[in-house]
Amino acid sequence: MRVIKNGFLYQVTFMAKVFPVNCYLVEEEEGLTLMDAALPYCAKGIITAAANIGKPITKIVLTHAHEDHVGALDAIKETLPDIPVYISVRDNRIMNGDLSLDQEEDQTPIKGGVPKKLRTRANLLLKEGELVGSLAAIETPGHTPGSMAFFDTRTHALIAGDAFQTRGGTAVAGDIKPLFPFPAFGTWSKKTALNSAKKLVEYQPKLLAVGHGEMTENPVNAMQKAIRSLEQKLR
Ligand SMILES: [Zn+2]
Repeated sequence: MRVIKNGFLYQVTFMAKVFPVNCYLVEEEEGLTLMDAALPYCAKGIITAAANIGKPITKIVLTHAHEDHVGALDAIKETLPDIPVYISVRDNRIMNGDLSLDQEEDQTPIKGGVPKKLRTRANLLLKEGELVGSLAAIETPGHTPGSMAFFDTRTHALIAGDAFQTRGGTAVAGDIKPLFPFPAFGTWSKKTALNSAKKLVEYQPKLLAVGHGEMTENPVNAMQKAIRSLEQKLR
C-alpha cells in the first residue's frame, strides 16, 4: 500500500506497480470521507491509512458500483458499522444487482465486475450538485450509467472515479490505452463517457484524482487531449 497526500486529499494505492487500484481519504474538519473501497483485501490498509492521518472515517462515498471500488466495503463496515454509505441513485441499482437500462440510456450492456456477494447497502443516494462535506457530486455517466465524480469546493481537486484514467496515459473512460486497457474494457458507453468528460473539464480542476493511475496537477490540458483522442476514435 502507498499513500500520497495532496492538500486535503490522500490517495491510497494498492498494487501501484502492476495493477494500480486507488481509493481516497478526504480530510474534513471532523473526520475523513473514504472515496471508494478498492478490493476485498484492502480493508486493513484503508483503516490503517486513516489511523495514521489521525481522524475517524465518518462517511464512505462510492464513485460507482464496480468490484474494484466497493471490494473492501463489507469488511470496513464490519469494523465501522455506523458509517453511512453514499452512492448515486442510478448506480445504487447496480449495487443491488439490477443491470437493467433506462429507455433514454445508450442500449449497450453494463460491463465490468459487478459485485455479486456484496452485503452492504447504501444509506444515502446522491444526485447532481449535492454536497457531501466539501465535495460536490457531479453525475458523470459513461463508465457505468450512474458514475459520479466529486469536486472539492475548497481546493478544486476533482476525484473522477473511472471517468478518466491516468495509468498508461490520461484517457477518457472507454478509450483503450494498450498499457492499461482494463478500465476501457469495463466501460458501458463511450459516447456517454465522452460527454461526461467534457462536462468535467469545464470545472477547470486543479488536480485530477482517478481510480487507476497517479494524481495529476493542473490536468486541464491532459484532459482536453484525452477528450480529443476519444472524439476522433468515435467519429
Ligand atoms: Zn475501476
